[in-house]
Amino acid sequence: MEKAVILKKGKEESLQRFHPWIFSGAIQKIEGKPEEGDIVTVYTADRTFIARGHVQVGSIAVRVLTFKDEPIDYDFWHARIATAYDIRKSIGVADIATNDTYRLVHGEGDNLPGLIIDIYGNTAVMQAHSVGMHVNRKDIAKALQEVLGEKIQNIYYKSDTTLPYKADIDKGNGYLLGGNAQNVSTEYGLKFHIDWLKGQKTGFFVDQRENRRLLEKYAKGRKLLNMFCYTGGFSIYALRGGAQLVHSVDSSAKAIDLTNANVSINFPDDSRHKAFAEDAFDFLERMGNNYDLIILDPPAFAKHRDSLRNALIGYRRLNAKAIEKIQPGGILFTFSCSQVVSKENFRTAVFTAAAIAKRKVRILHQLTQPADHPVNIYHPEGEYLKGLVLYVE
Ligand code: SAH
Repeated sequence: MEKAVILKKGKEESLQRFHPWIFSGAIQKIEGKPEEGDIVTVYTADRTFIARGHVQVGSIAVRVLTFKDEPIDYDFWHARIATAYDIRKSIGVADIATNDTYRLVHGEGDNLPGLIIDIYGNTAVMQAHSVGMHVNRKDIAKALQEVLGEKIQNIYYKSDTTLPYKADIDKGNGYLLGGNAQNVSTEYGLKFHIDWLKGQKTGFFVDQRENRRLLEKYAKGRKLLNMFCYTGGFSIYALRGGAQLVHSVDSSAKAIDLTNANVSINFPDDSRHKAFAEDAFDFLERMGNNYDLIILDPPAFAKHRDSLRNALIGYRRLNAKAIEKIQPGGILFTFSCSQVVSKENFRTAVFTAAAIAKRKVRILHQLTQPADHPVNIYHPEGEYLKGLVLYVE
């Protein structure tokens, strides 16, 4: 018997608008006893085909892979990855001499819900957020290898922390191809060590690339604080941009080691840079008011809707401190990567912070995630990164 999901009457509406998730409450019955991660065909109440996707346990019951009546097989993965690669070439981040660091697949934004693939030099790091993508990982890796050809020598699969915690599968990380990866990649001409084995996410925050490039333009002659620096991305761009002084801060000692290593491969023995392993709020409290360019790129303060209120208080406190202490004429790059915090929420938090600090502030840029992190227009939940560049009088 075909593995199928039959919707309740009228529950196909969001699918007709190509929303890629089916919630368990929309389902009338499930046939053919699918297991988590299986491909299921979705029918409306009157048995008309509407979609095909991965079935999963939880409130999102199906993640839709296609709205066309087509098989989900090797050719399917190959076609989706080939399209994703073409888009990255059009954007101008793939297949160029100065950059081999980019996101090739961004889940729903590439019509591949539950799958992330980041490219670092000749290594692809693949991350599954659904059991279905885990089950299909070998076909996906093979397609990836075929689409990118010689450019990819290693594929590292890293899903132990992103797969559903209760799923009864072997979540071991490891290489699906190669294994002798040199781990330095190039972002707009700058070199970065990427630690996909032990680092956060897939090893690097690819999503700040365009914002780092913008920062570089503001850096000349300035005294800069890069708060929540992780591997030092913004700091390295600031050094290239001609900053007078760059201080990088992160509470993780490992992140500070990585930042120092990244400074060294780009600007060996550059005395303009110093890194501090310290808590953000402690540092902001004691730092004085010498900086005239500050970056605040904290981790997601809210992972779920119920922590939204506390997250907004956190953003407000953090921004108030920075706005209070920045030099007159200073520039603040401030970000939120929490998906549940809307653009308006974030702007209100920063507005309140400015008022608390009693400084005159204007918005110069409104930033978001780059084009290799596309947002599916039918799935606005995929838009998560927000940033403001402020001029503080
Ligand atoms: N700006 C970085 C990414 C930042 S990720 C880039 O461009 O790559 C957020 C970082 O905040 C992590 O490295 C984490 O270790 C750090 N962090 C989390 N809590 C912190 C705290 N209380 N004080 C300082 N750093 C913190």
